[in-house]
Amino acid sequence: MSNDTHYQELQRILQSMKNAHLQAGPASAALRRDRLMRSIALIRDNHAALNAAISADFGHRSGYQTMAADLVTTINMLQHSADNLERWMAPESAEVPVSAMQAWVAPQPLGVVGIISPWNFPINLAFGPLAGVFAAGNTAMLKPSELTAKTSELLAELVARYFAPHELTVVPGDVEVGQAFSRLPFDHLVFTGSTTVGKHVMRAAAENLVPVTLELGGKSPVVLDSDADPVVAAERTLTIKTFNAGQICISPDYLLLPEGTESAFAAAASAFIRQAFPTIQSNPDYTSIISDRHYQRLLDLLEDARLKGARIISLAPEGEPDFDARSRKIAPHLILDVTEEMRVMQEEIFGPLLPVKNYTSSLSEAINYINARPRPLAAYYFGDNPQRQQQMAQLTTSGALVINDVMAHAALDSLPFGGVGASGIGAYHGIHGFRRFSHAKAVVIQDEAGTTNLRLRAPYQDKAALLTEMLTQSE
Ligand code: NAD
Repeated sequence: MSNDTHYQELQRILQSMKNAHLQAGPASAALRRDRLMRSIALIRDNHAALNAAISADFGHRSGYQTMAADLVTTINMLQHSADNLERWMAPESAEVPVSAMQAWVAPQPLGVVGIISPWNFPINLAFGPLAGVFAAGNTAMLKPSELTAKTSELLAELVARYFAPHELTVVPGDVEVGQAFSRLPFDHLVFTGSTTVGKHVMRAAAENLVPVTLELGGKSPVVLDSDADPVVAAERTLTIKTFNAGQICISPDYLLLPEGTESAFAAAASAFIRQAFPTIQSNPDYTSIISDRHYQRLLDLLEDARLKGARIISLAPEGEPDFDARSRKIAPHLILDVTEEMRVMQEEIFGPLLPVKNYTSSLSEAINYINARPRPLAAYYFGDNPQRQQQMAQLTTSGALVINDVMAHAALDSLPFGGVGASGIGAYHGIHGFRRFSHAKAVVIQDEAGTTNLRLRAPYQDKAALLTEMLTQSE
């Protein structure tokens, strides 16, 4: 099917959803809650089928990881919206210069929101945005990833059972469908995916001035300060680096360690993996790399680093291969002695490889290194000195900063989740998602005398003197 045919078909669906939205008027709190609760029911009733589909798409995806990150977390996000939306919907009164005047900010639904989602958490990154989109009274069209084709097909089928087409429609498809989708005149477009594709999506959306939320990727650093305990830092960093086999947008991408501490870190990392994953290849807790292309990309990164002089430490259990093309499982690897010429220090890794870079002098050196690169989605800092924690917080800019752990921010509904600079535009989760997918409409009721506009009414002569006096007054 050509790109234009895709476009026309999608445009027809969008137009009928827009008409339905206009005809129905703003969704009541009860309807919004009902849509959120049906989303929860869809996930709950079909959790086993969704878990199996995701695992089939990955080759193998840990069932526990799917329950934790794709199913339960997403239900919690939807429930949080259902529990709070009435409070969020309340108009906020605003200050007025004249007491008889009234003013407030009214959150208003935007209309139909487009959502393009990636493969790494196919339920969370489709229904997570919907927690805000539905709470704000919108309807949505979803384009899930072609890399999790079975999950996307199942989602399309389930959504058609739990929702009317004008409330939520799923359009599975590949890059061509994604391209056509991103050209549609949505009322808002949420894209979660790579920074490169994010640029294409923003360009396409600009044609219709469609506002975008871009949830992108990048290289999220982990900094160990001189007082950090390498054992605690290794355990916490590798807990997340091995989750989904590192295929997470906020996975620790590389480490910045004070010179001389890499042996202690490597020993702690090795002990931790031995205990957490006594086996990897036949361990149902360890997730496969999503596709042959990504598997090969990661092996190429490793080989490139090796050829350019890196020291590579495989954390594969004794007697097991470092990686296996049949299972597409790659054991965690530390990459020491890295240089800027290596691709692992240039590209987002998105897998279980962890480059370790040393800094020689002070924390400022690590901070300068981060600041010389595109702004990351998350930064992680290990160290207990409050002043130095503040230094890290104030002198680096990232979507989020977590101190003394990794990824601890993502499941807190109270915090905005999103990037800055190259890692994204706009944030959602909880009330931040509600606000992101609402229009904050300013409403004013003028007083009986029309007081505030009288100063704009001609003749101006007497009024001009007053303004001139104000402008020339010294403080
Ligand atoms: P991707 O950018 O390749 O694809 C994401 C989606 O965009 C898919 O549905 C795909 O079909 C569609 N798409 C591809 N090309 C398109 C185009 N030209 N126009 C419109 N749509 C297009 O990303 P991916 O490989 O699925 O996911 C991995 C990336 O996503 C990583 O960079 C990761 O950091 C990022 N990510 C970010 C977050 C976040 O919340 N910030 C979460 C998960 C993943």
